[in-house]
Amino acid sequence: MRASRFHLATLKETPVDAEIVSHQLMLRAGMIRRHAAGIYSWLPLGLRILRKVEQIVREEMDRAGALELLMPSFQPAELWQESGRWDQFGPELLRLRDRHQRDACIGPTHEEIITDIFRREVNSYRQLPVNFYQIQTKFRDEIRPRFGVMRSREFIMKDAYSFDLDKDAMQRAYDIMDQAYVSIFDRFGLDYRAVSADSGAIGGSTSQEFHVLADSGEDAIAFSDQGDFAANIETVEALPPSSERAAPNAAMETVDTPAMRTIDDLATGLGVSARQCLKTLIAEAEDGGLVALVLRGDHELNVLKAERLEGVASPLRLAQREQIVEVLGNDIGSLGPIGLEIPVFVDHSAAQLNDFVCGANQEDRHLVNANWGRDCAEPASVDIRNVTEGDPSPDGKGQLRILRGIEVGHIFQLGQKYSESMQATVLDEQGKAVYPYMGCYGIGVTRVVAAAIEQNHDDSGIIWPDALAPFQLAICPINYHKSEQVKQAADDFYHSCRQQGLEVFLDDRALRPGVMFSDMELIGVPHRVVFSERGLKQQQFEYKGRRDDSAQDLSLDDLDGFLQQLFPGQCRAD
Ligand code: ATP
Ligand code: MG
Repeated sequence: MRASRFHLATLKETPVDAEIVSHQLMLRAGMIRRHAAGIYSWLPLGLRILRKVEQIVREEMDRAGALELLMPSFQPAELWQESGRWDQFGPELLRLRDRHQRDACIGPTHEEIITDIFRREVNSYRQLPVNFYQIQTKFRDEIRPRFGVMRSREFIMKDAYSFDLDKDAMQRAYDIMDQAYVSIFDRFGLDYRAVSADSGAIGGSTSQEFHVLADSGEDAIAFSDQGDFAANIETVEALPPSSERAAPNAAMETVDTPAMRTIDDLATGLGVSARQCLKTLIAEAEDGGLVALVLRGDHELNVLKAERLEGVASPLRLAQREQIVEVLGNDIGSLGPIGLEIPVFVDHSAAQLNDFVCGANQEDRHLVNANWGRDCAEPASVDIRNVTEGDPSPDGKGQLRILRGIEVGHIFQLGQKYSESMQATVLDEQGKAVYPYMGCYGIGVTRVVAAAIEQNHDDSGIIWPDALAPFQLAICPINYHKSEQVKQAADDFYHSCRQQGLEVFLDDRALRPGVMFSDMELIGVPHRVVFSERGLKQQQFEYKGRRDDSAQDLSLDDLDGFLQQLFPGQCRAD
């Protein structure tokens, strides 16, 4: 590709409304453009990368025996009514009516459509197993579309759906997809982890997420430093402390704590550590009342765990100050579990403390040296916190480490949920109609592009792994329009690269070298070759890898050998 025939649309300035690096770089490199919240076009440069991702996904899905098809975005409401999701799905589902006043939606996912296809097309166990997939546009009316294509409203997903006669066969289909995902993410050349997304389940996972590791990731993932355990932090059990609680050392006292609003204020003000203080959160109860959730000051509430507790409203809603005053009275101040007249759930590690600090349920006053069992009833403790770095791994092997990740894939055993609700049956070997077991397998194709950048960039721009790069090699000739010699060398090399099947970009714009170089670095081309009059005089050209600190001069005599070394397997030695 010649720059003069391409739409290279790089921007110098960082767009102000782009919060994270990948979003900024995708806009600056001219990969995407925004039309409305969460709605983007992919410009030619961006599309080249998107197609690379799609191609790898397609090849590995095909290799794993899945069959590609294409389903519609527009989905009739009847199918969603059959599955029961027309009423269950929240406002993320974009509902609309056609000119005949028929209800429909724009598909956020395709379980209903695929089950409809299956029940019409497949009747016998002889046609199983089968796994259908597509690479297609989804629409989800996300409450907070953000970070560009990382969380957009319209995005491209690869979604696959397997159908099997029984549970064991479903497990086999799932394992095949697990392996296919490993091949896909290996081929992308990204640093990733497959983590369990099952709640508390250890061994034999029925749901796994694939995360690209990046400090800016929305998800935290916990993994054992010694065993294989790895799971989304949302789902990881915090084991109760193994030792006995220490005995009280001092009598409880009430102290004044004016203007100490946060745990940090309190810890500093009283000269104790945050882990010695209790954090008391008030949430709505199922019966309309309130409950207290008590954690150690240095711990974070795990919402999923809390909303699973009996009596706690799900989804979890933290109470507003007015609700608290209404139930607990006007004079309620700094909150604490002692003397609180609502159900109290105490996290295991908070229940392990002795001589702790907590709110006195009076304005600007706290209790110090408070002790469970002595100053209030012994609490029944529960697990309601997120695990932290150094906690014991739930599989008993080593300690937990925590990394941040971006969820780019999710594989899931659905069982008979859709086959049953939508009456999709097949005849088994005995001629009996049975509901098949399904699995579903997603990859956020557009999100992969953003995640790859989030993981691989520097101050100058994107650093594509070879497999995703829009061009494999950039040729930057200096004075292409002025020097016949330079033009000749660059054109010859360009043609020779193309003959070898390389995706090469020739920057034939009449620009200063610095501008060409910074554009090629911004868009992340992994290799750059420079021809100049000075170099040619010495029978040399210049080469720089995108991650190299400096350029090197190489001999023109062996350009083919150079290409072969750079792209082994792709370029022949003549
Ligand atoms: P999230 O927790 O990020 O909302 P999800 O659980 O809703 O994801 P799935 O329904 O499992 O996602 O969809 C499969 C994949 O599609 C996800 O792993 C993710 O990579 C991608 N994806 C989901 N929502 C979006 C979005 N709004 N924008 C871009 N990609 C998305
Ligand atoms: Mg979602």
